[in-house]
Amino acid sequence: MTAEEVQGWLKVVARRYPRTTRLVELTQTREQRPVLAPEVRSRRVPLRQLRRCAAICRQHGDEPDTSSVGLELIQSLVKLSTLRIWQVTECTAVLVVPVANPDGAWRMSRCNSLGEDLNRDWSAGKTAEVGGLRSKLRGWSPQLVIDIHQWVPRHDGSGSVKFSLEEDLGMQRALAQNFLAQQPDGIYMFNFPCRLAEGANIMHADSATFLRTTSVLREMGSLKTLARKDKHYPFYKELPIYAEANRPRQFHQTIRFAIRGKDMRAATVTLRFRWIAERNPHADGKFRQSSIVKRGLVKVYLNDSEISEAALRKTKAPGGRIPSGFLLKTHEIVEIQVSGRELRDGENTLAFEMPKFPHERDPYVCVYELEADVTFR
Ligand SMILES: [Zn+2]
Repeated sequence: MTAEEVQGWLKVVARRYPRTTRLVELTQTREQRPVLAPEVRSRRVPLRQLRRCAAICRQHGDEPDTSSVGLELIQSLVKLSTLRIWQVTECTAVLVVPVANPDGAWRMSRCNSLGEDLNRDWSAGKTAEVGGLRSKLRGWSPQLVIDIHQWVPRHDGSGSVKFSLEEDLGMQRALAQNFLAQQPDGIYMFNFPCRLAEGANIMHADSATFLRTTSVLREMGSLKTLARKDKHYPFYKELPIYAEANRPRQFHQTIRFAIRGKDMRAATVTLRFRWIAERNPHADGKFRQSSIVKRGLVKVYLNDSEISEAALRKTKAPGGRIPSGFLLKTHEIVEIQVSGRELRDGENTLAFEMPKFPHERDPYVCVYELEADVTFR
């Protein structure tokens, strides 16, 4: 959602729910965009007698999911869809700022239009955005402030993760493929690799890479041009999951992931994930938990068929930050290679089960970062 769409939505909500919702304009940005903050609360009780919680989203313009979180929060509060939410709104005032940095959001950039990182300005408060937020918060005096961020991979190497060009292009194709296979009415825009906009100007500095990068544009428009081109799917959402002893695999131990497209039948698919054994948090006493998952401890199922232990290709990975942002100790990367015919066109499942009767010192096995490489030869 763009900052303008968010703004329009907020105005509609304020009009439709006048008894609970007031739209406050905290400030104007340098480029004349308002920073809006709906305040949702019971108007029958003075503000001072309510608990006060403020949620600030998208100080960094390139973290769009944080705005969605803010809007979902507002929607659930105004709709009073459950008894619990109604109870909360009776005693709590909530101030949400869905887009704290509208100029940055408009550019999809971390900083505002002056290149300032708002999240580094809270002690000085010299930017219009943080200045406006600070004075509102001072007057409103919340007991709790939640500052919402999103992890964004940085392809130029300024962050902790750097994807290879092939991975980058593979991800673009995967995104386009899954989108087109759902037969949309039309396409507005795909988020093209930031590689072109970040770091060195590769158009002049490295024309071979530039041509390679832009070549994907000719493939992304239709399922036909995407067919039989290698794709790379990262599934980081809702991971890690953990497998604990003696819990049936359908409960909390299953990753659901969608790959769409008929050409997959001709492909080889490599599924890859990381796993690590962690100390059972309920175990008493002193003992050392090895972070390596013991052979045979966990069974793996792809779409309900068991994958034999021999088919799990394991490589030891050193401790450190992994691409989805988590910091892990020494762990293993596990690969499973299957024919594309073993996957469904649509939702698939990868499930984990530790079938033995639980011992107190059995580890929890945490699974991170499912990836799928769809390759054609
Ligand atoms: Zn951030």
